[in-house]
Amino acid sequence: MVQEFAAHSPIAQEFTSQSRSQRGEAALPALDYDLAIVGGGIVGLTLACALKESGLTIALIEARIESAAVSRGQAYHVNLLSSRIFEGIGVWEKMRPGVNPIEQIRLSDQNYPGVVRFGLPDLKTPALGFVSEHRVLLDELRAFLAQCPNVTWVCPVEVVSSEFQADVVELTLKQNDQSWTVRSRLLVAADGARSPIRQKVGIETFGWQYWQSCVVAFIRPEKPHENIAYERFQQDGPFAILPLPGNLCRIVWTAPKQEAEAVLALNEAEFLAKLKTRYGDQMGELELVGDRYLFPVQLMHSQRYVQSRLALIGDAAHCCHPVGGQGVNLGIRDAAALAEVLKTAHQQGKDIGALRTLRHYERWRKLENWKILAFTDFLDRLFSNSILPIVILRRCGLWMLQHLYPVKQIALRLMVGLSDRTPKLAKIETR
Ligand SMILES: Cc1cc2nc3c(=O)[nH]c(=O)nc-3n(C[C@H](O)[C@H](O)[C@H](O)COP(=O)(O)OP(=O)(O)OC[C@H]3O[C@@H](n4cnc5c(N)ncnc54)[C@H](O)[C@@H]3O)c2cc1C
Repeated sequence: MVQEFAAHSPIAQEFTSQSRSQRGEAALPALDYDLAIVGGGIVGLTLACALKESGLTIALIEARIESAAVSRGQAYHVNLLSSRIFEGIGVWEKMRPGVNPIEQIRLSDQNYPGVVRFGLPDLKTPALGFVSEHRVLLDELRAFLAQCPNVTWVCPVEVVSSEFQADVVELTLKQNDQSWTVRSRLLVAADGARSPIRQKVGIETFGWQYWQSCVVAFIRPEKPHENIAYERFQQDGPFAILPLPGNLCRIVWTAPKQEAEAVLALNEAEFLAKLKTRYGDQMGELELVGDRYLFPVQLMHSQRYVQSRLALIGDAAHCCHPVGGQGVNLGIRDAAALAEVLKTAHQQGKDIGALRTLRHYERWRKLENWKILAFTDFLDRLFSNSILPIVILRRCGLWMLQHLYPVKQIALRLMVGLSDRTPKLAKIETR
């Protein structure tokens, strides 16, 4: 019955054309899946791609049309672990021409002359990380889905309700005034920081809004950026410069909320003049490319990541301060960890939606995410501070980072994502 409705609905036609164009076949998608992933952002897409050869049937449901999702003016620090996860999936080679390597990281504290430099010899890798525009990652992950015959891309369709039963979750999907039901053994919420699914099932969160907001923009400097990433700690918040292809730079300017709003409201010339006071002269004149955006900054951690038939990943489970550019990397690691847990359970004939299975994922990821959330919070508080003993303490810390090799190694490995358990996907033989 449902199949019949499905076959004649516009949603089904959208499914069919997506499936046809992506896979070169004309079959209607089934309405029963092993796994339904809600949210086709970078994290949800990574999970679906990582499950390519799992034998699990997957519906990946995304509310926003492709152009709206892809055009989001965001750019990310993609750490080494995330790049290795993408490599393990088989999508990194395609992403690589669109991303920029980071060959040096410079940390500095206001006007203190001691700059901490992390370079390639410190890690003995060809890059310390990468910087990518949102659309580059999204485009390549979406293209990769076309090679995943077990994944049905359901878009633009919104999940409006979820009904949890003992063995199955029933999702109601909506497109315009048509609705549709899909069943799956497990629901994965990759639906972002406001996660309607997390809220609907009543999973509590811990956290706070920071006193700061973030202004982000693309800048083209006059001189080459030389693949250097900067994190400059100022009293009112960290200021980051990330190198992108085409000698573009992404700035992430954190400031108290009112000040950030005032920065956003400046006209272009005033904005560039103020920016120069943060940016410095090392790259010559600056040109603003595209729009500026303002983002609220929050720390949020879900009390639980799982319950029977449900797992939260990415921003649906946690959000952190943008210092260090860790947010999306935590989500990519969640996706790789959950994929590993689900593949193992499936191979062993276990129920992928059972709480016992999902707890393996929660135990793996919750503590690791806590560490990064706490670390980014600590960094922001430590550096946005002018109390003399704290200033002395952090400058001692910077000195140790620059001069004590083991301390430098610990900090660097934490930043690039190599300090915790590595998902199997990221363990590539040749490294
Ligand atoms: C200023 C700023 C700078 C940042 N810089 C960095 C950085 O340098 N490095 C880094 O790692 N991270 C950074 N982050 C964090 C990063 O942006 C997020 O961690 C990341 O985008 C989260 O991805 P996600 O896939 O979990 O969620 P999202 O990208 O929010 O995706 C959720 C998806 O779910 C869909 N959805 C929601 N509800 C439904 C529904 N009911 N039905 C169907 N679909 C639904 C949405 O349309 C959306 O596409 C930054 C964040 C900010 C604010």
